[in-house]
Amino acid sequence: MIETINNNFYKIPQAFEMLDADKSPVFSTIVSILNTCFGKNYKGFQKCFLILNEKSTAFWAPKMLVGQKDSRWVNSLEDEGDTIIEKDMEGKIGFSDIAKSSKRVTFVRFVDGIRFMGVYEFDKLSSKPNHRIFRRKSKTIDLKAYCFEKEKSNFKIALNESKKLTLSELKKIAEHNSSVQVEKKMHQTMVSVRNAYVAAYAKKKAAGKCQLCGQLAPFKDMDGEPFLENHHIIWLANGGTDTIDNTVALCPNCHRRMHILNQKEEVDLLLKIAKQST
Ligand SMILES: [Zn+2]
Ligand SMILES: [Zn+2]
Repeated sequence: MIETINNNFYKIPQAFEMLDADKSPVFSTIVSILNTCFGKNYKGFQKCFLILNEKSTAFWAPKMLVGQKDSRWVNSLEDEGDTIIEKDMEGKIGFSDIAKSSKRVTFVRFVDGIRFMGVYEFDKLSSKPNHRIFRRKSKTIDLKAYCFEKEKSNFKIALNESKKLTLSELKKIAEHNSSVQVEKKMHQTMVSVRNAYVAAYAKKKAAGKCQLCGQLAPFKDMDGEPFLENHHIIWLANGGTDTIDNTVALCPNCHRRMHILNQKEEVDLLLKIAKQST
């Protein structure tokens, strides 16, 4: 069930904002759905059910019955996908969980992969305990409402995944992911890394030492990694690019120094360091 790192890795930049049951992509794992559709970083998450928000909405990925008689849950898809019947063969579930999950963003696990089927709602009148009926209310979903943290968490996923790569593997991907044009709204922030791979490459290349003063990072972050900040040598606001030859990793002092002084000699030095091949 758990996707291999490489497989997962290359899928990270992809994120869906809308899904349409008639044109659903085929997902290989539940983890990849949670990452790309909900911006959730659940590595190795294998459960087929997850509450998404306070409004009784749940993520649901039922497996349809294909000759598995010993399974607790027996689900079937009827009315050309408009109805899902969920039976609990152990007779334990009743209606106990419905209050928190009456609306279900549903991905059905077929033999060849997992597809988005639509948003379903519990049909109380037709259901019996342990034989629950869900009706499709919509074939499309706007995922934006469910993934406020998407940008942030995808960035974090990429950073974590990138730790497992060698410097040269990372370089290849960072170069491939470099953005020459960066969205305007991002220009103001000081810790201004746009591309996780570019950022990760600069940090890995710095190997725990500030690329300006050469001192060890002043402390380790919560993950135990030396704390350095990425810096765009030619600021994005001045037309700099989010690429590896314009990005370095600096200690907080030097980072601040570059933003306050930005002395030409130091800018030139950093540009040279960023361009040095590895
Ligand atoms: Zn420094
Ligand atoms: Zn900076």
